[in-house]
Amino acid sequence: MTDVRDLPQNFEEYQEARKSGFMRVKEYCENGGHLVGYLCAYTPLEIIEAGGISAVGLCGTSNETVADAEQVLPQNLCPLIKSTFGFAYSDKCPYTYFAEMIIGETTCDGKKKMFELLNDIKETHVLQLPQSQKRSYAGDIWYEECKLLKEKLEEKFHVEITDEKLREAVKMRNKIREVELELANLQQAVPPVMKSTQAAMAMQQSTFVFSPSEQLANLRKLVDDAKDNYYNKGERPVSEKAKRILMTGCPSFGVLNKVSKTIEENGGTIVCPDDCSGERTRAMMIDENAPDILRAISDRYLQISCSVMSDNDARLTHLEEMVEKYKVEGVVDVVLHACHTFNIEGERVRRKCAELGIPYMKLVTDYAPSDSGQIATRISAFIEML
Ligand code: SF4
Ligand code: SF4
Repeated sequence: MTDVRDLPQNFEEYQEARKSGFMRVKEYCENGGHLVGYLCAYTPLEIIEAGGISAVGLCGTSNETVADAEQVLPQNLCPLIKSTFGFAYSDKCPYTYFAEMIIGETTCDGKKKMFELLNDIKETHVLQLPQSQKRSYAGDIWYEECKLLKEKLEEKFHVEITDEKLREAVKMRNKIREVELELANLQQAVPPVMKSTQAAMAMQQSTFVFSPSEQLANLRKLVDDAKDNYYNKGERPVSEKAKRILMTGCPSFGVLNKVSKTIEENGGTIVCPDDCSGERTRAMMIDENAPDILRAISDRYLQISCSVMSDNDARLTHLEEMVEKYKVEGVVDVVLHACHTFNIEGERVRRKCAELGIPYMKLVTDYAPSDSGQIATRISAFIEML
């Protein structure tokens, strides 16, 4: 195991931006800050934050570390899994490197087996997620998993996670979710308030902080700036004629340039990013006055709709609502290579779009630049047809 206070051996070879990232996280840890990494929307952040521990999302979104990962993992695996593992394997991500523990979950097969190997590099606690929300005992299973996580954190970090602290953490996370929803709702305007790539980058960057209150302040400023300082003063970063796209499927930050930017360059704009970090997840609040606060937290997270659940009807219901709310003209379904759950569920999404009379296009891709030309041609033809 790595000593979390030492810089990696190849630190001097890194470029300045990466070096300063390492120094920032190192300083946080040296000042007594605790850091854990997580990889999925099902991770109950309030439990971590109630322990005074920072939680940082570590999902790999870069092709840079895929080759590193392929020294250990099979090539025919989702790029998100390979990229995430590659960052841990190569010591290139400061957050992964300094995290004292990683929290994984049994969502898809690729991830849950990767965690066994990740645990050789960094202690990985795996949450056992039920495969359906609908069984009568599913809520109890997930509650027990959340309780186990709480006990694990208490033991490892020598903290006590009381109900009172959980309620405070819930209040803060609810506030963050409210602002994130405000940000999402800005895009209902015609034309939308922000470019989709700008909104996605801002959302992503807002999570790389060490305290939820800092994240809240960053998001608040982002929403107020976009609305009051630009849009309400007449700035229109997106053309009124831009075709309004709902983008669904796998987490897509790793294909921001290849897909999202290409949509913008070809006369489209993503008004509704409908993945697990989109509106359907953000809108799920927790009752801060619930009699059993841990149960309220576990119940909220279990209801998240993802293709790893069988069935995942809630995604289709939500899609229908979003198509209307965001005045959507076309649906783009992004499936990362070797992601069987989203790939197969794509057929149900296609059928739902046909029922709604909305054009649908599925893009199966990864983080490598090799298919960029082909993707651009398909996107351009799709938007042209809308
Ligand atoms: S897509 Fe599903 S498995 Fe992947 S991070 Fe989101 S909720 Fe987790
Ligand atoms: S995109 Fe699919 S295969 Fe990749 S980690 Fe998420 S659920 Fe698993």
